[in-house]
Amino acid sequence: MLDVVVVGAGAAGIAAARAALGMQCSVAVLEAMDRIGGRCYTDTSAPIPFDHGAQLMAQVQSVNTTLFPILERSGAVTFPAESIARSLFDPLDPTHLADDDEQTVLYAGYATIVGTILEHGLAIDQGEAPDISLAETVARAGLAHLPYRRLILQLLSEVVVGIAPEHESTLDMFRFLRFSPAPLVYPPRDSLYVPSGLGTALAALADGLPISLSTPVASIARDTDGVTVMLDGGAALRARTVVVTASTGAVRTIAFEPALPPDYDDAFDALPMGNAYKAMLSFSGRPFDGRLGTQPGTMNNAIGLIEAPSPAFSVNYFAQQYPQAPTCMVLTCESALADEYEAMGPQAAALDILAQLEEPFPGVGQAWDGRVWASSWRTNPYTRGGLSSALPGRVAARERLRMPIEQQLWFAGEALSTSSHDLLHGAWASGTIAGTEAARASRRAFSQA
Ligand SMILES: Cc1cc2nc3c(=O)[nH]c(=O)nc-3n(C[C@H](O)[C@H](O)[C@H](O)COP(=O)(O)OP(=O)(O)OC[C@H]3O[C@@H](n4cnc5c(N)ncnc54)[C@H](O)[C@@H]3O)c2cc1C
Repeated sequence: MLDVVVVGAGAAGIAAARAALGMQCSVAVLEAMDRIGGRCYTDTSAPIPFDHGAQLMAQVQSVNTTLFPILERSGAVTFPAESIARSLFDPLDPTHLADDDEQTVLYAGYATIVGTILEHGLAIDQGEAPDISLAETVARAGLAHLPYRRLILQLLSEVVVGIAPEHESTLDMFRFLRFSPAPLVYPPRDSLYVPSGLGTALAALADGLPISLSTPVASIARDTDGVTVMLDGGAALRARTVVVTASTGAVRTIAFEPALPPDYDDAFDALPMGNAYKAMLSFSGRPFDGRLGTQPGTMNNAIGLIEAPSPAFSVNYFAQQYPQAPTCMVLTCESALADEYEAMGPQAAALDILAQLEEPFPGVGQAWDGRVWASSWRTNPYTRGGLSSALPGRVAARERLRMPIEQQLWFAGEALSTSSHDLLHGAWASGTIAGTEAARASRRAFSQA
């Protein structure tokens, strides 16, 4: 009988397995996909390593994460996100950058909304007010007509949790923002890029772990002696404990016997999966250079100053780090727009993206070499979305799911972190805790047998 079975080889699963192995436990990691990393995956078939999911190590200065030093020790090379130039362009005249006055209005609005969320979030956290949606908090504070309100809410709600501000809890965002310096214009200032790919760096931490790929878990049955983990093909593993790291969307594909207590089901319902979409396009020539302040050979983040959810573009993607590669551009968008692009398929999405870029970067469509790489987190049956959000009034679900069932079954993953949900290091910390607790429980059960 194994000590610990870990379901999933994303950040939480890798951390759980490392923790349990470090306590001399016998471990098996079962991963449904044919690769490790989960939502942190670097696609090396693109001209430049392309992270379909997580790519920035976030909050590294404001939170003393355990993952960051581990990645650094393993040799991950980074550079600060704040060194990337940011172009805010005026959609009414997209050939020009927004002037200083417009930028000041945006940043002042940002500070106002973040301040409002912090103030109202603190009151909710202290039990002095009920939790309401982010959109409602902003409306009640009389900020409904603040310039760039929708863009600012996108940069907060949609970028962080992948869901519209009407559906995201103010308390959830407050607990996240407490650890992020404001303003948190994407990418957050205290974030580090990993040019070789954050997925590549994470995968290195899984070296030597007992991981079985393409091994979806169909069901988990508990009895007085331990757990039986049934695989899709009918094979079974016996273990004293199990740590399940599937996302709050994907966990529904696993059958539990006996059924999960109703409050666990409620907790998964309270944490629906938002979405985020990324696509990389490659180009012949240098269609971005000299436009909107983009210098040849340097990456630039371009965001349109529009009052509707819209994509952000990283043009000349990693041009400095990969000077021999063709010019690449990465688009990022979230929430309903992410779902729309994903549903369109990569080629149709690429054409739509190019049409939007034609005005700020004339000739970009001509220069596209026809290649596109795109994420598909919503349609992937083992993620069913990109990022967990918390419904207003339901934030306690993140903590609820941390409680083990009968010292046999633990859940782990980014969704269980209160301050760093939707971040790689939140997933890592959650996996480390669950793996350690499961290993301890297994040792105890062994010595009592
Ligand atoms: C587009 C996008 C951009 C992001 N950007 C950032 C960023 O810049 N910085 C950052 O810190 N975070 C970012 N994130 C968030 C980050 O990727 C996640 O928080 C983190 O990777 C989640 O790790 P996890 O282990 O909790 O879950 P997952 O990575 O989802 O791992 C769970 C694993 O379980 C497996 N699994 C599911 N069901 C089964 C089953 N039945 N049997 C076996 N295995 C199963 C899955 O295949 C998966 O590998 C981003 C996410 C997205 C989608």
